[in-house]
Amino acid sequence: MNVAKIKPCDIADGPGVRVSVFVSGCRRHCHGCQNAEAWDFGFGEPYTEQTKEYILKLLEPDYIDGITILGGEPFEQENIPGVAEIVQIAEESGKSIWIYSGYTLEQLVNRAKTEREIWYILDTADVLVDGEYREDERDITLKYRGSRNQRVIETTATFVEYWKTGKMKPVIWEGEE
Ligand code: SF4
Repeated sequence: MNVAKIKPCDIADGPGVRVSVFVSGCRRHCHGCQNAEAWDFGFGEPYTEQTKEYILKLLEPDYIDGITILGGEPFEQENIPGVAEIVQIAEESGKSIWIYSGYTLEQLVNRAKTEREIWYILDTADVLVDGEYREDERDITLKYRGSRNQRVIETTATFVEYWKTGKMKPVIWEGEE
């Protein structure tokens, strides 16, 4: 996996002050994508042990509320092992975890039946912002998402209900909105 960029103090991609990790590689090519340079899987720098140590260090200060993983596409097959590792270190740090994906929650849950690391990532994350960016549904008044079709989903609450009822009914994060 390559990492396109890391923002040590990001206030745009989730609540509070966050470390944002933009992974490289996305095959969706949504019209109007803001991160088109990260479509290329070879863009940026390889994710290494040093990158992991750097992220851990960035997560240490008390003023950092959490980590956001976006891209590129965190759930492209090539990126899943690296993303799972970042999620694991973030969980150990006790900080909140947000992930952006062009896939919908339902598509990811379906894939997770055979790709177990997707379960781990979804189950460990606090919030998934899902769905591809659609230029025709663009709305600049939305918080933490670019188009109306995208959803900010509380994964923990969603899965609690899913395990109880067997029904996937996304619980929308209300946070500060
Ligand atoms: S899924 Fe995200 S990174 Fe990929 S093209 Fe769409 S907006 Fe860009």
